[in-house]
Amino acid sequence: MALSYEKVIEKYEPVLGLEVHVELGTKSKMFCGCSTEFGAAPNTQVCPVCLGLPGALPAVNGKAIEYTIAIGLALNCSIAPFSRFARKNYFYPDMPKNFQTSQYDEPICFGGFLDVKIDTDEGVKEYRVEIERVHMEEDTGKSLHMGGATGRIHGADYSLLDYNRAGIPLVEIVTKPLTGTGKYAPEVARAYVSELRDILRSLGVSDVKMEQGSLRCDANVSLRLIGAEKLGTRSETKNVNSLRSVERAVRSEMIRHAGILDKGERVIQETRHFHEDTGETTPGRSKEQAEDYRYFPEPDLVPVAPAADWIEKIRGSLPEKPSVRRKRIQEEWQVPDKEMAAMINADVLDQVEETVKLGADPTRARSWWLGEIARLANEREVPAASLPITAKDVAEVVALIVRGELTDKLARQVVEGVINNEGRPSEIIEKRGIKVVSDDSALLQAIEKAIAAQPDVAEKVRGGHIPAAGALIGAVMKETKGQADAAKVRELLLKHLGQG
Ligand code: ADP
Ligand code: MG
Ligand code: ZN
Repeated sequence: MALSYEKVIEKYEPVLGLEVHVELGTKSKMFCGCSTEFGAAPNTQVCPVCLGLPGALPAVNGKAIEYTIAIGLALNCSIAPFSRFARKNYFYPDMPKNFQTSQYDEPICFGGFLDVKIDTDEGVKEYRVEIERVHMEEDTGKSLHMGGATGRIHGADYSLLDYNRAGIPLVEIVTKPLTGTGKYAPEVARAYVSELRDILRSLGVSDVKMEQGSLRCDANVSLRLIGAEKLGTRSETKNVNSLRSVERAVRSEMIRHAGILDKGERVIQETRHFHEDTGETTPGRSKEQAEDYRYFPEPDLVPVAPAADWIEKIRGSLPEKPSVRRKRIQEEWQVPDKEMAAMINADVLDQVEETVKLGADPTRARSWWLGEIARLANEREVPAASLPITAKDVAEVVALIVRGELTDKLARQVVEGVINNEGRPSEIIEKRGIKVVSDDSALLQAIEKAIAAQPDVAEKVRGGHIPAAGALIGAVMKETKGQADAAKVRELLLKHLGQG
């Protein structure tokens, strides 16, 4: 039986190592002029360089270097005045050159850190994640294994190869072993990837879509007895593709390792795969023996030696840090900590900010993105940002509410319609014939009916007990099927009962 998480952290201290791969959003590939556009027909974005044909000569993409330096600077790294590419030799059909051009002992950026915050029952906690290195490399092609049931190579009849992705610039960001997170290790791992993603997004260097693989995380986890010096043996869970999965994978590995160690057995150093459905990992390839990639400096590329003034120019053009931006927004909008954390967690800060820019007040904008929209996103198990509703739609709905043309209840129907792909708010209002009952005589009729049904309540209100009016307003809202403006009903009702 699996150990409880509480038991695991009573006895062991987790150590994390996070490797994040990010595909850069350059127009062309790392070492040739081929397009990086996603979704083209297979093998249409290839040339002798990215196919590794004999005699082809690569040249470094300057924009990719600029982007990588920006990433390094944003992560407080030093930038090497001189670094080289290296060949990492191995054979795999999706890698046509039979080596990956990467960086080995001379990464372009090194020695940085990123501070991350998590919201816990014991208050907000901050951790400094030290960055070992940020280096440049290239992506591989894609293999498709056909004919088998699982899409894996085992049991497949044949494989197809698409080299469009081969040679797309990749940056790898590797942390030092992170200690001291204790029971919060899973949350810290998630917060790190989330913060890193925000930084990469703010830099505009990548579209950072985890679900599409432009940002991928390998999560290394090991345990050691509390108080022990020596690090335990790590496992490396590959290509975890959502923030939630990063957190779950780390937690599940901690529990698995503890089970092994408690039995007096040893953890095997290997890669593992995380499964969304079970929330558990299964073994990949062993890393017990150090692989020999026969790294050597790439003879066909000149070293990278960025001029100091170029680096300073890039530093000078770095955008506002996400953490600074969040603080500014929180102060401007006067948002409580908890709600700020909720917006960050739901990843809707951009949407809320956009909605406010389009004229909605911050409180209303927030409550839509964190309320109804988040609820529907949850139901569909997708991030709110990926729903087909835009800041413009929400701003429009808010404006209609403010003008008294929609009640909250009707607005929820409109929002749901937008999310169900029924069109923009105005189209849905038109199509569904949604409108507020603002005709005073219709409202008065409903009010009189409510008073007749609850004469004792009406008497109380007449006698000056205003809170009792709630029951009557509720009845009127019910009668008008939520299509009346509650404030207006209240006003009319109180006036009718001599309290207006
Ligand atoms: P590999 O090539 O095997 O992926 P890397 O050095 O690229 O190795 O990455 C290993 C990651 O694991 C780094 O983030 C490193 O800090 C981290 N790490 C190293 N040793 C341990 C350990 N014992 N427990 C947890 N993480 C570790
Ligand atoms: Mg690795
Ligand atoms: Zn090419």
